[in-house]
Amino acid sequence: MRLFKKKEEVLDPYTVEQCNSCNKTSKRKFKEGDHVFKMTEKCASCGNGQMMVAKIFGEVVK
Ligand SMILES: [Zn+2]
Repeated sequence: MRLFKKKEEVLDPYTVEQCNSCNKTSKRKFKEGDHVFKMTEKCASCGNGQMMVAKIFGEVVK
């Protein structure tokens, strides 16, 4: 008989950015220095909005 150890879960951090003009969201890998409400780059979708970090979350890596 073998004993199975519960696999340790590894979380991969992601950052979700949202445009303050058109509300488009984009998800990308978390980068060092990211924090909620941090302004990042100009929105590539509408061209005049500002992308802001809306949330940071971890996804379980399988
Ligand atoms: Zn936009």
